[in-house]
Amino acid sequence: MAVDPLIELSGVNKYYGELHVLQDVDLTVGRGEVVVVIGPSGSGKSTLCRTMNRLETIESGTISIDGQPLPEEGRALATLRAEVGMVFQSFNLFAHKTVLANVSLAQTKVRGRKKDEADKRSRELLERVGLEDQADKLPAQLSGGQQQRVAIARALAMDPKVMLFDEPTSALDPEMINEVLEVMQQLARDGMTMVVVTHEMGFARSAANRVVFMADGRIVEDRTPEGFFTAPESDRAKDFLSKIL
Ligand code: ADP
Ligand code: MG
Repeated sequence: MAVDPLIELSGVNKYYGELHVLQDVDLTVGRGEVVVVIGPSGSGKSTLCRTMNRLETIESGTISIDGQPLPEEGRALATLRAEVGMVFQSFNLFAHKTVLANVSLAQTKVRGRKKDEADKRSRELLERVGLEDQADKLPAQLSGGQQQRVAIARALAMDPKVMLFDEPTSALDPEMINEVLEVMQQLARDGMTMVVVTHEMGFARSAANRVVFMADGRIVEDRTPEGFFTAPESDRAKDFLSKIL
């Protein structure tokens, strides 16, 4: 695809003490692109995601979003975190707030919206993820799949430029995985730029523009899904695929 880069990582290195967890990572994600990141446990996938909204700092290299280097602190950092939405394996909803309040809260605090305006937007987004009739419930009254859809609505309410998903379905019972993947598929079709760490290979095949395979802190392959799944080049990828497919 003609690349209009939205995210650019260049020469990124990150250490946890002695552990060189990201090694010379170069990655460009184009606007509207869906990049699926896969690889063995411990290969640095979560760390990679977390560097993109500065939940983790890096030791060297550069990261920019929409042409701007990541801000280090203050208001600009809060704005960055809003613009780079993140959905985790654990949904991290506020247990004592309603579904509606969970989706509205950051809109008023970070985006400066009035409560009615935020609630209106929240209801639109809850409808988009199929939860319009759950607005007044507490998170514990919802299934895991529903809670994860609330977390997606909450991130979308910030009008993000990109959405990062770090194993969003890994904590879910099997029968709930598809309802979350379907919401993500729809987002992809609507043109959202997405970076998705997942073991759901069906999703990777159908939604990804590119598959990035990581091992030991490096990007080992960066390919089309067809290319990657039908003819992985590296021994690491062949080995990984033989274990999961
Ligand atoms: P993945 O998401 O691919 O499983 P991670 O990015 O979570 O990998 O972790 C990469 C490596 O960094 C692993 O060896 C992990 O144990 C280590 N690691 C992750 N977070 C920390 C941390 N906060 N402190 C020290 N080591 C960490
Ligand atoms: Mg991880």
